[in-house]
Amino acid sequence: MKRPTHEGRQQACARKRRYCSQGDALDAALIAGVERHRTAYRCVLCGQWHLATKPARRT
Ligand SMILES: [Zn+2]
Repeated sequence: MKRPTHEGRQQACARKRRYCSQGDALDAALIAGVERHRTAYRCVLCGQWHLATKPARRT
């Protein structure tokens, strides 16, 4: 039986923009003005970096 999270990841990978490095990903978020709401993570599928939405935090 397949784990549903695996397919979810594959879809996320296919949909998302890829970055060569963590710096590139965070730069893109910075340029878009959303760096406070994004976090970069290394994708296990493509080996590159994607941006993920950070959980909303009230401070
Ligand atoms: Zn990926």
